Amino acid sequence: MNDNLYSSTTKKDDLIVITGAGGFIGGALARYFADKGFTNIRAVDKKPLPLWYQTTPGVENLSMDLTNEENCKVAVRGAKEVYNLAADMGGMGFIERFRIMCLRSILINTHLIEAAYNAGVERYFFSSSACAYNVKLQEDPNCLALKESDAYPAYSERGYGWEKLVSEMFCQEYTAERGMKTAIARFHNVYGPWGTWDGGREKAPAAMCRKVVESKEKNICEMEIWGDGTQARSFMYIDDCVVGIDKIMHCEALNAVPVNLGTSEMISINALADLAMNCGGIKLEKKYLLDAPKGVAGRNSDNTFIKSVLNWEPSMPIAVGLKKTYDWIESQYNDRKAGKAVVKDIA
Ligand code: NAD
Repeated sequence: MNDNLYSSTTKKDDLIVITGAGGFIGGALARYFADKGFTNIRAVDKKPLPLWYQTTPGVENLSMDLTNEENCKVAVRGAKEVYNLAADMGGMGFIERFRIMCLRSILINTHLIEAAYNAGVERYFFSSSACAYNVKLQEDPNCLALKESDAYPAYSERGYGWEKLVSEMFCQEYTAERGMKTAIARFHNVYGPWGTWDGGREKAPAAMCRKVVESKEKNICEMEIWGDGTQARSFMYIDDCVVGIDKIMHCEALNAVPVNLGTSEMISINALADLAMNCGGIKLEKKYLLDAPKGVAGRNSDNTFIKSVLNWEPSMPIAVGLKKTYDWIESQYNDRKAGKAVVKDIA
């Protein structure tokens, strides 16, 4: 077993709390720990249970709004580890339009980390984002990859990015002043099965796969692309993400130290669209929506630091991960058409 996967002091029946577990990454993390044999997992999300993307048998599921301080106390009671994946978020369309909602996620982390500290939690994980980085460094589609120190001087993406940066600081100060172990991962675009794929919060990989499936179904010959398609990003497959969370959380050298969690395989939005078309075996005309939200011009993950500390980095190639995602979205699409329950968004 790799030493960096869950600490030797974490016992299989220790209580692990995962917030945002009704969503994409939190849901996958609950399943990951259950599959590893952890028997005492509490999953928390503000959505009513029928709207959770996935649930894992044997996991305690609580529907609670964690912007409420009292709910945070209940959520973390008895926990040894807390993984905070709860946030109001979505793809570019969502975070550019709903900046206040994104900023208000600060309430979740603010109350949750205080409750965790008071409850004697040993380790606390915060899901930060590449949006915390200085946007001025990302104006060129051929941007150099972002290394951890590039977050300062601070010029984060408005709303969403600033919430992440300030919440990171909360973690760092709880470690510095009160000695609680905290872990901070800056995720770079996570995708894969069991993520949202329709409704307004979906991100580019899922949206493109859905558009290809729809085009085949409805004989549409074009695909809408937000911006001119030259924007570049890296995309991390969900399986890499949950393993990375585990490794970062249990690495002593990363206590309160923000670290990139993403792949360094940068790809343009145009090339991503081509890959999605390949998955569906069709070719569509690209129709560029130049006024649509498109985010920064270029962003990639510099993995020098994570490799030096963990001797590991996310490695799923986008071409392989996107095909798995496409197949899942196609089956979701067909299930929805057949009137079956699918992952759905509350917008
Ligand atoms: P998601 O939207 O699928 O899941 C987030 C969950 O948090 C949702 O189910 C939502 O209902 C829940 N939530 C929101 N407000 C809440 C509240 N007040 N109380 C309780 N639950 C609440 O998003 P995700 O993709 O799983 O992202 C998880 C975390 O990772 C978030 O912090 C996000 O900002 C971060 N992140 C994700 C990506 C990505 O590409 N998916 C990239 C960077 C950072």
